[in-house]
Amino acid sequence: MAKRGMSQSILKINTKAIYENWQNLDKKSSKNVETAAVIKADAYGLSAKNIASNLTRKNVKTFFVAIAEEGIEIRKAVGNDPDIFIFSGLMPKDALILKEYNLIPLLNSADQYNQFQLTLSGQKFGIQLDTGMNRLGMEPSEFLSLDKNISNACLIMSHLACADEPSHKQNLQQLKTFHHLTDGLNIRRSLAATGGILLGAEYHFDLCRPGIGLYGGLPFAESKPVVKLSIPVIQSRTVLAGETVGYGGTWIAQKDTQVATISAGYADGLIRAIGNGKIFLYDGEVRCPLIARVSMDLITVDISELNNTPETLDLINEIQTVDTVAHAAGTIGYEILTSLGQRYVREYISG
Ligand SMILES: *Cc1c(COP(=O)(O)O)cnc(C)c1O
Repeated sequence: MAKRGMSQSILKINTKAIYENWQNLDKKSSKNVETAAVIKADAYGLSAKNIASNLTRKNVKTFFVAIAEEGIEIRKAVGNDPDIFIFSGLMPKDALILKEYNLIPLLNSADQYNQFQLTLSGQKFGIQLDTGMNRLGMEPSEFLSLDKNISNACLIMSHLACADEPSHKQNLQQLKTFHHLTDGLNIRRSLAATGGILLGAEYHFDLCRPGIGLYGGLPFAESKPVVKLSIPVIQSRTVLAGETVGYGGTWIAQKDTQVATISAGYADGLIRAIGNGKIFLYDGEVRCPLIARVSMDLITVDISELNNTPETLDLINEIQTVDTVAHAAGTIGYEILTSLGQRYVREYISG
């Protein structure tokens, strides 16, 4: 267990739940479809190193990260066998890193493809196609006019823009475009992230690449919660009826209220938009409203319900998940997770 100061919050990360989420996503596709793990952005803020080495021990064989530098730490953590794909492909100056750490670029343009032939010819590569999201990947015309033979690509992939909305017509359009560009190539194919897995078998192809679903987030509604955030109480006071709390004096006590101040704020990723009574802090299962504005390092909580002042209060738990907090703040679970700050002591629960 990491050493911690009394005012440091603890982020508990349940790696057993991450693996169970992986298994449950894996079960949604047929046996011959591989399920990989997306661990970009430090595994959505939860530590790519820990999670990748744990999943490797459980026989997960393929990982995806956003940029080459992220691949270095992962390669050291998982050994030489697993495939590590790089979404950004081959960026200038990446060739050495890709080669040294055996990382597989997903080539995104004819330029990247040509550069690859010049600098890394003979190494493994994949191709990323743009089928309608217009974010990353070769345009169809660009792909079809590649002059060289691409049959030795080890993966050809694309990404869905609207997979979290199953009835959105862009899903079918992208599926059709993907078929049109890749049918008959005899290269392994991948289209689905978490949302795409849930759209059904026709989106699965040879390999699925879930990220958020592993970490307990929507759109995988059945996922197991993975994180618990416990924040120490620094002090508590009685605020008399009519007094205010916090910056701007925006919260006014309607009656005498017991207010606890806890040791985390927006500098720890708890964005200001969660303030002013939209979410709760939990003492076990008892919920206490967050009141007033969120400060940089502090949050205030109405603990009048409690008989005494607890040592810590939980902001994320099985009742109030990352998505509940995100919804209250007008954002998505992905953003809350990846914002969780570096000041937390991280504890990994494995099973
Ligand atoms: C982030 C990402 C994923 C994983 O998406 P989730 O929605 O988190 O499952 C898969 N593929 C690409 C290209 C991505 O950028």
